[in-house]
Amino acid sequence: MIIAIDGPAASGKGTLARRLAESLNLAYLDTGSLYRATGVATIRAGGDPALEADAVKAAKALDLAKFTPADLRSEEAGIAASKVAFIPAVRAALLDFQRNFARSKASGKAGAVLDGRDIGTVVCPDADFKIFIEADLETRVRRRVKELRETGENIIEARVRADMQARDARDQDRTVAPLKLADDAFRLDTSALTADEAFAQARAYIDSKVPKAKR
Ligand code: C5P
Repeated sequence: MIIAIDGPAASGKGTLARRLAESLNLAYLDTGSLYRATGVATIRAGGDPALEADAVKAAKALDLAKFTPADLRSEEAGIAASKVAFIPAVRAALLDFQRNFARSKASGKAGAVLDGRDIGTVVCPDADFKIFIEADLETRVRRRVKELRETGENIIEARVRADMQARDARDQDRTVAPLKLADDAFRLDTSALTADEAFAQARAYIDSKVPKAKR
């Protein structure tokens, strides 16, 4: 079973994906962490995340073991991620890893859930279930501010809002694998939902739909 979850920054993808993985015994891949790690690795090497040669070099040599969760969750990492993600050759370099993860049955798992921007459209177009998760900008800003303050990052709300708008624009407007709704995706707006309610709606969609493999 493969579940694809796509949506903008701070829409609730990660929380939902983790809960689905736990309840359905699936392996979980946060594909944003691959782009974040590529962005951070580019900066660590003294390169520019917006420069193809620098970013592709980092993507090809990517070793996730070199990053702590804190290295990847910062606002700086998110911005660098959306810059490297704009470059088609970087996306191509990270594609096989994501597809192999989705296909390779991790031991004892019933399948995989991946979250990102292009999982239902590009990485796993044949996924059994596709969820497109949304939330309005102010809700997402509030969630991201809370999350960053909890990690001790000293941030200004207006700055987070501006960064998120810039990131949304880059993710939606790029020519390769932009963030967009797959035709067959279930749309879930979490603006007014708690994490429990979002999870319940996603489970109701999954439980009501027969997976492709069994049709
Ligand atoms: O999901 P997260 O905010 O961690 O992703 C960071 C950035 O990585 C996004 O803003 C987006 O530019 C990029 N990304 C992507 N495709 C994915 C996952 C993330 O372009 N599948």
